[in-house]
Amino acid sequence: MQFEDLKLIDPLLRAVNAEGYTTPTPIQQQSIPHILEGRDMLGCAQTGTGKTAAFALPIIQRLTNDPRQQRFIRVLVLSPTRELATQIGESFRTYGKHTAIKQVTIFGGVGQNPQVDALRRNPDVLVATPGRLLDLMNQGYVRLERVEVLVLDEADRMLDMGFIHDVRRVIAAVPRQRQTLLFSATMPKEIQELADNILNNPVKVAVTPVASTVETIQQAIYFVEKKEKPGLLQYLLSDRRISRVLVFTRTKHGANKVVQQLDRIGIGAAAIHGNKSQTAREKALSDFKAGRTRVLVATDIAARGLDVENISHIINYDLPNEPETYVHRIGRTARAGASGIAFSFCDTEEREYLVDIERLIRLHIPVTADHPFASPIPVPPLTNLDGHGYRPAHLQPRRPQQQQQRNGQGRSNNNSYPRQGEVKRPSPPAPLPQSEGRNSSQWNNDGRNAPSYPQAASARPNGQSNGATEGDSVGQQQKRRRRRRRGGASQGIKPTA
Ligand code: AMP
Repeated sequence: MQFEDLKLIDPLLRAVNAEGYTTPTPIQQQSIPHILEGRDMLGCAQTGTGKTAAFALPIIQRLTNDPRQQRFIRVLVLSPTRELATQIGESFRTYGKHTAIKQVTIFGGVGQNPQVDALRRNPDVLVATPGRLLDLMNQGYVRLERVEVLVLDEADRMLDMGFIHDVRRVIAAVPRQRQTLLFSATMPKEIQELADNILNNPVKVAVTPVASTVETIQQAIYFVEKKEKPGLLQYLLSDRRISRVLVFTRTKHGANKVVQQLDRIGIGAAAIHGNKSQTAREKALSDFKAGRTRVLVATDIAARGLDVENISHIINYDLPNEPETYVHRIGRTARAGASGIAFSFCDTEEREYLVDIERLIRLHIPVTADHPFASPIPVPPLTNLDGHGYRPAHLQPRRPQQQQQRNGQGRSNNNSYPRQGEVKRPSPPAPLPQSEGRNSSQWNNDGRNAPSYPQAASARPNGQSNGATEGDSVGQQQKRRRRRRRGGASQGIKPTA
């Protein structure tokens, strides 16, 4: 299928051509015809799938084909983060550059005056984060009573970030008679309920980019002790093939520390996270995009929606305790079909997270053991991918390592698997996973062939969202998970075979 087959008007076709898009992505193929017909939509998709164009193109077409004498806000797009809002705004500008459509983007953390001035020019499309929007609505600078299309982007993230009440307030200010498009990477119960309330007979579109993404990305796990992580990072970065790398840390403090460590050894790095001013974030991002900074260190929330081309590597300095986050993170290096490389550091405490991640992606991530910072603790047994849902470490039946190996379950039982301590040649750096790791299907000694990735929504048995906030310590997040579990969610926990 070509863009021409989607019945898009010429100004839009010229814009997508200029962007170098040749074929519509699956979500674009599935969504654009329905949105053009005016249908409501429930889209299960995340960034990296081309979903912004999937809604922006038909919206611009609708506005262009049905112009108004006077300008007013006809389209409202709600986004959880300022970065995503900015990117959506830029997409409307890019795709609408041969039309008369005007867009304005507003978000918190910066002075409101330039945004108020921009709003006075009466944009057709307003892209906003919920907090700043409500603020400006309350001050009388924004009027939404003539909105025709409402888009909620990354609804699950708005829920995670505690914006859901703000979102409901905004929705109440928009006419009931409208077209509504709701996009979410996962479908927790609250989002499903919201969708049921605000969507009218929606078309449901689900794309699982993550499956192809996960399969095209070369992944490697480095078992390492926490205190050795800085050394391992430095070791990996001595390979110049790691040209543009996004490093993920769990906390803002952790991100700052990594930047300081890299600064000390003369590696240009910058951090983006919620404690940074908008100006600092924008500078960090533009330096990274322009190749002036080689390493960008980010927390998950700050990185959400970041769209940077040609990221050569992702490094998970900390392994996320929510497995979906792993998939989101590594997807940054495989934008729009490109393939990339993702390295993950896994310290002893994080080993249980690896089990969750491998279950979710349904493959065993190859281990790179050939590095000077390898943990002295033996490599854990291969994850039983048949386990259901999350199984926190304290609920896992523990068996002696030896017995697991006798049963043929141990990672280190595999003859071709490099056991810790057996690797004798730590240098020079050889960070590419294919040099040491094995491909996923070879590791599938449980009889499965690289299976497809299950829907993010179904991966979590009770559909609950993480609820984690940026800067939470692991301890806080674990406490929250335990509290949820005590709250009666059985999580379908089964013991490992
Ligand atoms: P999104 O999921 O909207 O964040 O888009 C992810 C990336 O895919 C962006 O860099 C877009 O510019 C790019 N993109 C969107 N649609 C296409 C397409 N049809 N072909 C190639 N790249 C695309």
